[in-house]
Amino acid sequence: MRRLKTSTASETFSEGVALGKTLQPNAILALFGDLGAGKTTLIKGIVSGATDLSPDVVTSPTFTYLQIYSGLVPVYHFDLYRLRTAADFLSLGFSEYFSAGGICCIEWSERIEEILPPGTLRITLRHLGEDQREIEIL
Ligand code: ADP
Ligand code: MG
Repeated sequence: MRRLKTSTASETFSEGVALGKTLQPNAILALFGDLGAGKTTLIKGIVSGATDLSPDVVTSPTFTYLQIYSGLVPVYHFDLYRLRTAADFLSLGFSEYFSAGGICCIEWSERIEEILPPGTLRITLRHLGEDQREIEIL
């Protein structure tokens, strides 16, 4: 387990870049944490570190559950805020992305906690203060 603190959004982004560089195809990153905790900011860094893509392609896919960034390694970016249950995730066929050769980054993993595969990297972000965040990686 690794726990770190950041004091700015760009620090969180940089932590994402460092993490992104370590990822292999089929990596699954389950992000936990409230609105504004920094999940999307961290994923921007991860995409930047793991692919040849600009972080600008990463936005909060609030009205779709999934955005795919087609980098050298593809990134499957889920935002499950509006999903109700893990059963919905399965019936939409999304579990196929767990082993599709890309990197899965899942915001609001709380929704599908019971079906996260073994080996999933669990990342919890907490709002400590105005710009202070804690990131726990396990
Ligand atoms: P989430 O996806 O968890 O809802 P976002 O990454 O979209 O969160 O938003 C985080 C917001 O908090 C952004 O506006 C960002 O600029 C701001 N922020 C301030 N400090 C930090 C920090 N240390 N880490 C990440 N984001 C921060
Ligand atoms: Mg977000």
